[in-house]
Amino acid sequence: MNDMTDSTPTAADLTAAVRATLAGHTSARAQRPAALCSVCAGIVPAGRGEVEDAPDAEDDRLDALRAESGLPPLRGWTRRHTACDDPRVIVRSLTGRKVSDDVARLALRAARVRPRTAVDDGYAIVPTISVHASELDRMRLARDLDGTPWAHITPERRAALAEAIDDAQRQIRLQAPHGCTSGACGFCGVARSTGWHASPVTWRDGTAAPLCGDCYKVMARRPRTRELLGLRTLAVEALSGATGMGLADAFGDDMRLFAELVAPGHPGTAEPWAHAADAWGEVREAARRALPSSLPEPLRAHYLALQRAERDAAIARNVHEAPARHRAELVAAGWPVE
Ligand SMILES: [Zn+2]
Ligand SMILES: [Zn+2]
Repeated sequence: MNDMTDSTPTAADLTAAVRATLAGHTSARAQRPAALCSVCAGIVPAGRGEVEDAPDAEDDRLDALRAESGLPPLRGWTRRHTACDDPRVIVRSLTGRKVSDDVARLALRAARVRPRTAVDDGYAIVPTISVHASELDRMRLARDLDGTPWAHITPERRAALAEAIDDAQRQIRLQAPHGCTSGACGFCGVARSTGWHASPVTWRDGTAAPLCGDCYKVMARRPRTRELLGLRTLAVEALSGATGMGLADAFGDDMRLFAELVAPGHPGTAEPWAHAADAWGEVREAARRALPSSLPEPLRAHYLALQRAERDAAIARNVHEAPARHRAELVAAGWPVE
């Protein structure tokens, strides 16, 4: 009984064991020598930074050579600054510019301040700059790099990066919904879109009206037309999602484009088809009811069910009203009916 008690670790024992393990980790970390950062080639102080890889015999030989020249060890590029995992930090260090994470990633990739990716080494997903492409490069770097951060990135490459930042900012701006210099969408009236396209639609003064990305998608699927009825039919298609034979005959004259309704220079609306929401709502509903099979899901299922329900109701009405109608016909023809 006493033996059992003696061999069971006490809470104090456990605490001591945990402390010892932590101390082991800490001392292993503290024992990492100072090394060059694999990203910026600045010095990662002893015990700091992220571990990249264990040095091999060749790395040890290079470090011995560097030590003879009074240079800090490379240790096989085994380390990097934690801050050098952040593309924004890299961009700021190289250009002095403060940019978003998206812009920084795009610009680093475009400027070939080469982001290392999962493809390169199988695990690093954060873009970093790989500065050792070949054994020859490593020899040169081992000789030249003195621990000054970013010394290997030339003024030309920094200028290229600054240009890439401008491009990335423009690209990201264009991905966000934006206005068009020619006005709102000539079909639906939306003021902002992720893409704008030239179209045969004109404002009331005859100047060209653009189409938003969504409306243009519909027009691009169909044969080009400048005829108003054809354009209105395409607009019904963009409005409702319905398409097919008979769309023009059924709705052509009930439909008006945004460009027909407003004075040129109208700023448009935040939502598409909002300027004449009621009138467009009626056309949309009628188009969907007329051509339910052409709709995308889940509209298709909804409007087909609606069509079935209406047909069933019509049949029921007919069955119910037929005897009375038949009797009226007989009476009208002069038959004596009870
Ligand atoms: Zn670094
Ligand atoms: Zn539109």
